[in-house]
Amino acid sequence: MRMGQTTSEAVGRLYDEATDLLLAAMGGNIHLGYWDGEDDDSPIGAATDRLTDLVGARLRPAPGQRILDVGCGTGRSAAQISAAFGVHIAGVTVSAYQVEVARHSAPGAAGSTEFVLADAAARLPYPDGSFDAAYALESLLHISDHEAALSQITRVLRPSGRVVLADACLRRRPDEAALAVIAQMSAAFQFADIPTRSEYHERLAAAGMTVIEYADIGEHVRRTYALAAQAVRVAADGLDPQSAAEMTATADLLARFGVLPDIGYALITASV
Ligand code: SAH
Repeated sequence: MRMGQTTSEAVGRLYDEATDLLLAAMGGNIHLGYWDGEDDDSPIGAATDRLTDLVGARLRPAPGQRILDVGCGTGRSAAQISAAFGVHIAGVTVSAYQVEVARHSAPGAAGSTEFVLADAAARLPYPDGSFDAAYALESLLHISDHEAALSQITRVLRPSGRVVLADACLRRRPDEAALAVIAQMSAAFQFADIPTRSEYHERLAAAGMTVIEYADIGEHVRRTYALAAQAVRVAADGLDPQSAAEMTATADLLARFGVLPDIGYALITASV
């Protein structure tokens, strides 16, 4: 479901400004954490790294392959997956600040990484068929034109290359009260679109991809919102009154969005 208008410039500005706070709130990644269940008391950093592991495993990478990270943040996922599988990962982001931070991060002995400022919905700066696999970890929801971004991904993948998407999904049409929270959250965090399961299927098919697996892991990742809200409240402490009030409002919004039963989380494996 379309949420609002975003532009890659506005998303870039958001991440130029908010990356450090988000990293602190989400334990070094800018994506949700995965917990096995209620009894799993993993800290947020371990849980967000675990979601990266789930994405990496679904890519089924072979050593030496080239993999694309669409919306790479500060490169932590790329470093983790490249080191785990001995692959080369190229990451693109619309935040110049993130490129700078990512280029200073170490990929680990077994793998290698490179990072570029580029808009995936415009043109990915790579030749046709130049990657074995690609993933987008919580970046598609910022992109208004999914068709453009997904067809760019298809273009740069080799035949039968795998794609893993991890992002919010909408389980059903929300009521008015929930829609108001989703609209506020979308405005605050530059969400352009939260697709339903059938929208994901239609869009992937339109871009020439076939879905291999669609899992809604929403209940495994939900805890992240409350923990991130808590971290943002802590960060607000000691700021000037106006900034503190803004941060507290953001924390409240995260907490309210996080409990909406209409919001799930799609972990999708597809192939071209
Ligand atoms: N995947 C990273 C970062 C997620 S935050 C992680 O899991 O930690 C969202 C990321 O998507 C940011 O890096 C942002 O710059 C990127 N992004 C959003 N729109 C984009 C676009 N049009 N092209 C490329 N990257 C984009």
